[in-house]
Parts: sequence; structure tokens; C-alpha cells
Amino acid sequence: MRKPKIVLLGAGYAGMMTTKRLMQQLSIEEAEIILVNKHNYHYQTTWLHEVAAGTIDQNQSRIMISDVIDPLRVTLVEETVEKINPDQKKVTLQNGELDYDYLVVGLGFEKATFGIPGMAEHALSIQSFDKSRYIREHIEYQFSRYRNGEKDKEGLLTFVVGGSGFTGIEFVGELAEKLPQLCKEYDVDLSEVRIVNIEAAPTILPGFDEALVTYARRSLEDRGVEFKIGTMIKECTKDSVIVGDDNEEIKAETIVWTGGVQANAVLGESGFELTKGKVNVDGTLRAPGYEDVFILGDCAWVMNQETGRPYPPTAQIAIQEADICAENIKALMKDEPLKEFVFDNKGTVASLGGRHAMGTIFDGKKLYGLSAKMMKHVIDDRYLFMLGGPRLVLKKGKFRPF
Ligand code: FAD
Ligand code: NAD
Repeated sequence: MRKPKIVLLGAGYAGMMTTKRLMQQLSIEEAEIILVNKHNYHYQTTWLHEVAAGTIDQNQSRIMISDVIDPLRVTLVEETVEKINPDQKKVTLQNGELDYDYLVVGLGFEKATFGIPGMAEHALSIQSFDKSRYIREHIEYQFSRYRNGEKDKEGLLTFVVGGSGFTGIEFVGELAEKLPQLCKEYDVDLSEVRIVNIEAAPTILPGFDEALVTYARRSLEDRGVEFKIGTMIKECTKDSVIVGDDNEEIKAETIVWTGGVQANAVLGESGFELTKGKVNVDGTLRAPGYEDVFILGDCAWVMNQETGRPYPPTAQIAIQEADICAENIKALMKDEPLKEFVFDNKGTVASLGGRHAMGTIFDGKKLYGLSAKMMKHVIDDRYLFMLGGPRLVLKKGKFRPF
């Protein structure tokens, strides 16, 4: 008898952890498992602000898939997904096609620019490993330009970050650590450098705990970050942003947009019913109308029944969804009842660069400074442990406190 074929799209948190769990729960005779990803490596999206600022060795944030997923159990297809046809149970790849019995979609997020003129064309974004590495190279290049005769160019060493959500805040924290180092390396006076974080809402980290927000802002301002709060970016040009009601122009040769994310465009192009760009999955994480298609991570719209609002897209939720998804695929194969997904919120911790961090854990306990930073490392290493055991923690972990 032909083995059922399980195809997983995307090797992010959702795709990797579902693959891992399926390997643990199903024997080689029970199912064929195929993982499709753009690259032969998995990258830690939650570390990309460090890759982008150059505060981490870029290779620490990526893991060869074959190091953690047994190639004898799972076939890795290094390909780009173009479209899903759920009615025909087929996936179109850039160079081919795959059919499936069960499909798991974990294709992650893209930057959302909300139609702001020039943003898609001119701003950089912390969106993938390659794009983050590009930002790192770009930043260093500005310093070499300064030394190579362009020191008087307006905005050469102005680094504008659009949006003060968690990505923007974590990134400016890394910049506040990295740029003084680059100044030393390139003999540039630190006063020549500006880090400007621009946020449309009246506060940074809108909606987050007020005491922690105040702490984060002070910590970043103390290290030279300028905030422009309640200031909307209206336009982005090749070398500036236009902001606020008075259309102020801020000249900057580096503009990084962290103003929002949306689900991978493949979902819309595949004809799934969408809510704000995501698939509004049922309690078992399946796409409406398709009993064999699971949608996870940043592609899924998962409602928080208590607040009546969707959960924010995080790695934490993607990892938890993977457990239920693997169990539910097994249940479908054995004709057993499926489980409902219940999110267990373990808190939110944000790094602010160097030894600085803040956040809440479990029942809302607040952490500041080095203790928050250590907790952040524990969270990072816990994921590595779940994915690849102690060997992976030793190879790629952040077990050092700073
Ligand atoms: P992703 O991790 O985005 O993975 C998607 C995968 O699909 C990638 O490997 C990509 O290469 C692949 N892919 C995409 N398109 C295609 C295609 N067409 N064909 C083939 N492959 C494709 N969340 C937290 O919980 N805690 C944090 O501390 C945290 N920090 C963050 C820091 C930053 C800088 C950012 C940007 C996000 C952070 N998040 C954090 C959010 C978190 O990273 C995302 O919610 C999470 O990555 C979503 O996981 P995913 O598996 O859905 O997708
Ligand atoms: P976000 O949507 O959370 O934040 C975007 C910010 O940009 C908002 O504050 C918004 O008001 C602002 N903005 C939007 N348009 C603007 C404009 N025109 N001008 C100025 N400001 C504008 O996006 P994000 O920060 O990329 O986060 C995405 C997801 O990833 C969230 O769910 C977040 O919780 C998660 N994340 C978590 C962590 C962590 O837990 N440490 C870190 C990074 C990201």
C-alpha cells in the first residue's frame, strides 16, 4: 500500500518543529515526509536583528537542516513555493510540482508597507537571513564611504528605523551597541552618528506594559537613540523619509522599515479565504474547507477567545502550533479525534542590545536588565534544545550571559 505523503512548506519555527515531531511520532513505514524550503538551512528569525546589526556571528543564527532533520527520514526539497492548489492537492514550485495527502503551510511573513510611497522600493527590511545580512554589510559600507571622501554627504551616518514595535526596538538596541564599535574601527567621532526611531503611535511598543516601555525607552535614549513618537512616516525616498504633519524630511542613507508584517503572499495567490492576509484556521489549525491542510505560524489567523482578538505572530505560538499539528496529522491518519489548539503564553522578553533587555514571564512577572537578558538566552537555547538537543545548544547556543 502507498504510504501517505506529508508535505511541509517552509523550514521556519513552525515547519521545523512540525517535521521534528512527525519524525518522533511516525515510523518510516507509516508516512513519507517532504520538507520544502528556499534554502538548505533553517535560520533563527528571532535573531535577525542581531544579524542585521552585525552584533552576532551570522552563522550562529543558521542551522543546516540536515544537522537536525534525518535525511533518511525526511526528504528536503530546496525550492521556492509559488502556489498551492488545495482542490487538486498539489503545490507548484519554481521548478516543478509536488502532490500531497497532508499539507502543512509554514511560509512565514513578509514586510507590510501599507502602500507608503517609496517604502517597498527604498527601505531595507529585517525579513530573512539574506536581507538581514545585506543590512549588516550596508551599515559597514556607510562607514567606509565616510572614510573614502564622502564624509560631508548629508545623512551618510544617519540610521532611520521606521516603527517601534518589538523588531524596531530590538534592532535599535543592537545598533546602539554596534555603531560605537564601528566608529572606533573607522576613526569616526560618535557625534557624527544618529540612530532615529520613528513611531506613528503615541508610544514605543504600543500596548505593552507601561513600566517596561519606560525602562526600554530610557535605556535606549541613554545609549544615544533618538525617538520621534506620534510621528507617521508618510514617504520614503532613496535617501530620506518624510514624516509627520509638517512633512519634515529626514535625510538618511540607511532606512530600515520595521513598521509591520503580513503573511506570505503565496496564501493569497493560492485562493485561500483570508482574514487580513492570513488564513483564519479552525481550532485544529486547518484551513476552512480543507481537512488535510494545516496553516501555522505567521500565515495563520488564530483567535484568542478571551480577548476576541487574534494572537500576535510570534515564534512562541508557531512552535506550540507545531506540536498540535503533528498530533493532528497522526490522528487524521488513524481516524482518531483531533485536538484543539490552546496557546500557553509564557511571556515576552525583548533584547535591547548588549546586557540590556526587559520583558514579562509566565504570570506577568517583570524582568529588567541582565536578568531579562539571561532569560532571553534561556528562551533562545530552549528552542535549540527542543530542535537539536544539547549538541545544538553547544554549537549554536547563547549560553553566555553577555
Ligand atoms: P518563519 O520563521 O518566517 O519561516 C518561514 C520559512 O519559510 C523560512 O525558512 C523561509 O525561508 C521559508 N519560505 C518563505 N517563503 C518561501 C517560499 N515561497 N518557498 C519556500 N520557502 C519559503 N517571536 C517570538 O516569539 N519571540 C521573539 O523574541 C521574536 N523576535 C523576533 C525578532 C525579529 C527581528 C523578528 C523579525 C521577529 C521576531 N519574532 C519573535 C517573530 C517570529 O520570528 C515569527 O513570528 C516567526 O518567525 C514565525 O515563524 P514561521 O515558522 O511562521 O515563519
Ligand atoms: P509590529 O506590527 O508589532 O510593529 C510595527 C510598529 O510600526 C507599530 O508600533 C506601528 O505603530 C508602527 N508603524 C506602522 N506604520 C508606521 C508609519 N507609517 N510610521 C511610523 N510608524 C509606523 O511589527 P514588528 O515589530 O515587526 O513585530 C512583528 C511581530 O513579531 C509581532 O507579533 C511581535 O510581537 C513579534 N516580535 C516579537 C519579539 C519579541 O518577543 N522579543 C521581537 C520582534 C518581533
